[in-house]
Amino acid sequence: MSTELKTCTRCQQTKPIEEYYGAKRSYCIECERETARERMRKYNATFRGRAMTAWRDAKKAAAKYGVFDDLTANDVMFVFAISHGECSYCGEVTDDYQLEHIVPLSKGGKNTLSNVTCVCKTCNRSKFNHDLLTWQDRSDRPDDFEILTTIERMATRRGVHIEVIFEELKEQAREHK
Ligand SMILES: [Zn+2]
Ligand SMILES: [Zn+2]
Repeated sequence: MSTELKTCTRCQQTKPIEEYYGAKRSYCIECERETARERMRKYNATFRGRAMTAWRDAKKAAAKYGVFDDLTANDVMFVFAISHGECSYCGEVTDDYQLEHIVPLSKGGKNTLSNVTCVCKTCNRSKFNHDLLTWQDRSDRPDDFEILTTIERMATRRGVHIEVIFEELKEQAREHK
């Protein structure tokens, strides 16, 4: 029985076809695994770097506004990890996600886990220093923003009923007028 051989375009070694995931693959199994590991390392480094930057920026802003601050770098990684890059406000999935304070720090919002979420750049820029309930009435917000969907996402994340979130938002809108 003759064994079919194939040369891997990455390691340049000629190997039996059994050492490939399929006859059409140009990398051998060993090389495919190695490149997958490289991708994961790169992805993890990017993810971590983004979380650390967002965390440091939030700490700086919290100090500037003199607001309560117990946000940890792990909190930010948690928020980013559970969002999978999905914007809490409009639902868009993006690589360019950012950390968002639901009640803006400039309006006395806390730099703490329950006040942060993951949003896209467009929503972050548009919401600026508005609280959620005020922002939803503004014409310059993205069309895809749905207050109810947003509240549902926040409630699911915190494991509470949507009424709890809604009451909190109303309270915040009153406090930070
Ligand atoms: Zn190879
Ligand atoms: Zn968005």
